[in-house]
Amino acid sequence: MFPSRRKAAQLPWEDGRSRLMPSGLPRKCSVFHLFVACLLLGFLSLLWLQLSCSGDVARAAMGQGQETPGPSRACPPEPPREHWEEDESWGPHRLAVLVPFRERFEELLVFVPHMHRFLSKKKIQHHIYVLNQVDHFRFNRAALINVGFLESGNSTDYIAMHDVDLLPLNEELDYGFPEAGPFHVASPELHPLYHYKTYVGGILLLSKQHYQLCNGMSNRFWGWGREDDEFYRRIKGAGLQLFRPSGITTGYKTFHHLHDPAWRKRDQKRIAAQKQEQFKVDREGGLSTVKYRVDSRTALSVGGAPCTVLNILLDCDKAATPWCTFS
Ligand code: UDP
Ligand code: MN
Repeated sequence: MFPSRRKAAQLPWEDGRSRLMPSGLPRKCSVFHLFVACLLLGFLSLLWLQLSCSGDVARAAMGQGQETPGPSRACPPEPPREHWEEDESWGPHRLAVLVPFRERFEELLVFVPHMHRFLSKKKIQHHIYVLNQVDHFRFNRAALINVGFLESGNSTDYIAMHDVDLLPLNEELDYGFPEAGPFHVASPELHPLYHYKTYVGGILLLSKQHYQLCNGMSNRFWGWGREDDEFYRRIKGAGLQLFRPSGITTGYKTFHHLHDPAWRKRDQKRIAAQKQEQFKVDREGGLSTVKYRVDSRTALSVGGAPCTVLNILLDCDKAATPWCTFS
């Protein structure tokens, strides 16, 4: 039985007369060769499909610049663009987004992709710097912003001091170069929580030139609050005019404040002399006197959005500001 079945299965080229298979492949072709040939064919047809779908083949056949005639082929949907190409229409300015930071990881995961998408849509060239305070002193938002300014390099010409938990929702908000003077994006008419007239916290844009004119922010504010109020007085002292958004109709819904105060407790302790000192203007200190060390600098991508994390060790002069620690 077996010999006859074998004979019937014998292929024409096996008798030694023909050196070619019906497909034109060499006689000694093995299963492996057939497999490779199939792979090659598969690859070529995929390539054809891709080119004909994107219209390149048809365009090449018709000559450049002409419309492709006939019914268009359905292409697989393109993934959404996460990063827009920067070209001349983005303008000459570049923004350093300075984010004072400590232990707000969940907020950061939302903030970086949100801001990158928001600013890219508005064609604002930008880079996000996460200013991570890693020393064991109390949090110092203002000193971190000074460090961010000094470490942000020459490729940026203006800054946004930007809270990590404040997300702009209205695309009409201006994040452009603040030529005429500091521009307070999170104005008291729009911020969900702070509504006093001299408030300049949350999100504030300044040209680097104007920030230098103010000698940056005071380094004396350890713990929560008041550093922004002191900075308001520096702005006025430098003779600068403060600007705020106009024509925004979304009111207190302009931003999302990602802050549960029970979970993210504010450090409102006032220790000894800090009670009186917190309302004083610091005439000497600022950008020119901040003492720190950058422990590391890490390029990071959060959900496809780039940023740089600076691990910062601030220095505290305990004789000048003993309240930088709790004891
Ligand atoms: N911040 C931080 N870790 C802290 C305290 C403050 O990262 O422990 C940063 C963060 O960017 C935050 C900003 O400082 O958005 C302002 O602090 P907070 O949100 O507590 O103040 P609020 O404006 O809500 O009163
Ligand atoms: Mn907050």
